[in-house]
Amino acid sequence: MPKPRPAQKESSQRSKAADKKPVSKAPAKKKADPKSAAKMAKQEKKKNKKVNKEFARVTYLFVTLFLVMMGYLIYFNVVRSKDIINSAYNTRQDTFADRVVRGSILDKDGNELARTNVTEDGSETREYPYGNMYAHVVGYASNGKSGLESVENFNLLTSNAFILERMKNELQDKKNQGDNVVTTLSTRLQEAAYNALGDNKGAAVVMQPSTGKILAMVSKSDFNPNTVEENWDSLINSEDSVLLNRATQGLYAPGSTFKVVTSLEYIRENANYADYSYNCTGSIEHQGTTINCSNQSVHGQVNLEESLAYSCNASFSNIGLQLDISKFQDTTKDLLFDTKLPSVLLYNQSSFSLSSSDADAEVMMTAMGQGKLQVSPYHMALITAAIANGGTLMKPYLVDSITNYSGTRIDKNMPESYKELMTSAEAAQLTKYMQAVTDYGTASSLSGKGYTVAGKTGTAEYSSDKSKHHSWFIGFTNVDNPDIVISVVVENADQTGTSATYIAGKVFDAYYN
Ligand SMILES: [Zn+2]
Repeated sequence: MPKPRPAQKESSQRSKAADKKPVSKAPAKKKADPKSAAKMAKQEKKKNKKVNKEFARVTYLFVTLFLVMMGYLIYFNVVRSKDIINSAYNTRQDTFADRVVRGSILDKDGNELARTNVTEDGSETREYPYGNMYAHVVGYASNGKSGLESVENFNLLTSNAFILERMKNELQDKKNQGDNVVTTLSTRLQEAAYNALGDNKGAAVVMQPSTGKILAMVSKSDFNPNTVEENWDSLINSEDSVLLNRATQGLYAPGSTFKVVTSLEYIRENANYADYSYNCTGSIEHQGTTINCSNQSVHGQVNLEESLAYSCNASFSNIGLQLDISKFQDTTKDLLFDTKLPSVLLYNQSSFSLSSSDADAEVMMTAMGQGKLQVSPYHMALITAAIANGGTLMKPYLVDSITNYSGTRIDKNMPESYKELMTSAEAAQLTKYMQAVTDYGTASSLSGKGYTVAGKTGTAEYSSDKSKHHSWFIGFTNVDNPDIVISVVVENADQTGTSATYIAGKVFDAYYN
């Protein structure tokens, strides 16, 4: 390449010089001199070549532009149009709604969770037959949109009714019936979680670990989606943040449920983790910081399994002090802390903000689930689902299929793996430890049932004087071949007396009854 360049430069300089000559000389002289005529022909040729080159360049430019535009059009139609149409900022949504009656949202058994009623004069009302129960996950479709009403707006306002019927409707200037969104939600489990939470604030997420199907998602305080329009002002100004989906957007200290993560990190760093031993005297004191075990318990000599089963704070503080913080950070990244989660619903990212420069007190607190940790119930459900599924998190999903209004399937979502959060050996070890929690540990109320449970309880302090607690439970049933995963948080549980373990038990019972 470098060689031809100087030559080109030279020739262009030469041609420039030559260009000037004919102007100063009379054209008649050109004819007389055959040599200069040949020269000029040559120059002309060069000039043409140059022009041709310019032409080619412009043509290439336009062809490229054209291809880019075509590519964007195709991309827009295939990939982006759904997002744009779904966007709450797109006023054309209303145009779609002018032509299509909004479709229904169904649970996995075909029960209607949202439907549009049309009166004879053509006026439409959106109805939510289960009221508050599905408020956050199904959402609302007036005063903006939320939940599945927002995410699935495109499908709900698209009609795949039979073509002849659609043509007939067009001719009669009648609206077509929009498609149905068939969810993965189970009303039986949703109802069980909703009722068990009672008047408490909190959230519950139930999933099928082998597929990633979300079977239930409850958030309280709640609201009635049937009356969003008339109650809008009080809803957005609510002190209880009723519109917030606590399952995905609520951030809490994970409390002792995080000891599962600390255990994983200890296993990763210590090949001889089975030899871990600690003598719990009821508290641990280190550099002026004292951490007590809950309820003045003294756990005595404990190994790693017993530390988790009894939820021994002293032992986990001790473990924390032995961990490599930067490796701990890597493990929490593996488990999707400080990173995006697979979720179609709005969510808040969890954070693990421990760093190597933090004081030992902070390390001890974090290892037992306090400190600067923040996590959503949904995220804890994903971690638990990965443990239940041999380390692999299946991509969570809420929509099983899209059907036209008469039930003919248009589209179907299939399970797909999202990410391996840990190895299958690590998942198996954690499962064994979590089974000890229900066998003889803090969740033994879940043992002796018709099904087996592996889980972890948690109590998370959230007031500055440490007097107020959230209650947590994460776990899964049928340990050898897991059926369902649950993650529950109950806010201010010591005041209300409802434990997350109790709620999990109610949901498990509903599943197996
Ligand atoms: Zn202890």
